[in-house]
Amino acid sequence: MADLKGSWSASVALEVTDAGGRYLGRGFYSPRSSLVCRLLTRADEAVDAGLIRRRLAAALEYRRAASLVTAAYRLCWSEADGLPGLVVDRYGPVSVFQCLTLGIARNADWVREALTTLFPDGRIARLDDPTAARIEGFDAVRESPPEADLSGGELIIEEGQARFAVTLGAGQKTGLYLDQRDNRLLTAGMARGRRVLDAFCYGGGFACHALLAGAERALLLDSSADALALAGRNLALNGLETRAELRDGNAFDGLRELEARGERFGLVVLDPPPFTRRKDAVEAAARGYKEINIRGLRLLERGGRLATFSCSHHVTPAMFEEICRQAAGDAGVRTRVLATLTQSRDHPVILTIPESRYLTGLLLEST
Ligand code: SAH
Repeated sequence: MADLKGSWSASVALEVTDAGGRYLGRGFYSPRSSLVCRLLTRADEAVDAGLIRRRLAAALEYRRAASLVTAAYRLCWSEADGLPGLVVDRYGPVSVFQCLTLGIARNADWVREALTTLFPDGRIARLDDPTAARIEGFDAVRESPPEADLSGGELIIEEGQARFAVTLGAGQKTGLYLDQRDNRLLTAGMARGRRVLDAFCYGGGFACHALLAGAERALLLDSSADALALAGRNLALNGLETRAELRDGNAFDGLRELEARGERFGLVVLDPPPFTRRKDAVEAAARGYKEINIRGLRLLERGGRLATFSCSHHVTPAMFEEICRQAAGDAGVRTRVLATLTQSRDHPVILTIPESRYLTGLLLEST
């Protein structure tokens, strides 16, 4: 059991020791969270603006060396980049940051300083996640994006062949699901001539890439009117609107109806939101994943492919594979595993932090 030493302030990192008084590291104390202290360092060093700057510089260095610096990418991903509680996404010249812990929120000025040093000409917008802010006990700050870089409040981001509209502060996440970038590009490569189903489509990223790569037609499903409006905008931006159909509603129902009508697709993408954020709700989540995967598999034509994902932290790759195995059994579809999938590498996985691998997926082929 670790001890927290000294009188505490949410803005100042505390020294953490074990029960025998041995130094473990420093981190911010967050009394309302179930994670009361997330260590920012295990070395005997100050947690200050300099530490944030060094960590962000290292995060940028890793991404530059790995050729991950593109028009939009995640620069900093919390624990995985040594800065628990801080997310930074880059959209062109704009850095969007999210404070996810009380300590980081109290020291947001350090983040601004560090970003200004790294990108002297760049703009900065803070867009906290209201749910995280509520849990941690601070007021979410949601700044309007810097207008100078935007036309009509919108940034256009290129991802491979595709162009996506991003309205900072208006959409889900910070604007794009950057974690699925590699998987969008991968599935596009097998879309030529196929009919595509993009279920849980958000801005239609998978469908846009597939159509640009020569897919015949695409059907996009989402339960959010805002997401479908964005998908419509993205299809139009890429000149694809005549080959796509948008359908509003619960994807569980949508998949069932398509199956009942005997529809078939050459490529199905299932990219749902996390079905659970809690460990004790994994079983219910597993039932949800199994159901959509049974339906997704039944919608495949012979030789058709299913790209299927879970972004629930508590659903491990092994669990997800088992769920899909059961779904294939129930669906009566013999499937070949073409690839195991995970998040893009700008969301690094740290071997000793298993939670850092949260997006898991399979690319399956009906044989
Ligand atoms: N594939 C997308 C990201 C999907 S995020 C991309 O690459 O950008 C998950 C989406 O599922 C969100 O847009 C959300 O609105 C939608 N969603 C959540 N629950 C749903 C449901 N029951 N039926 C249909 N869509 C749902």
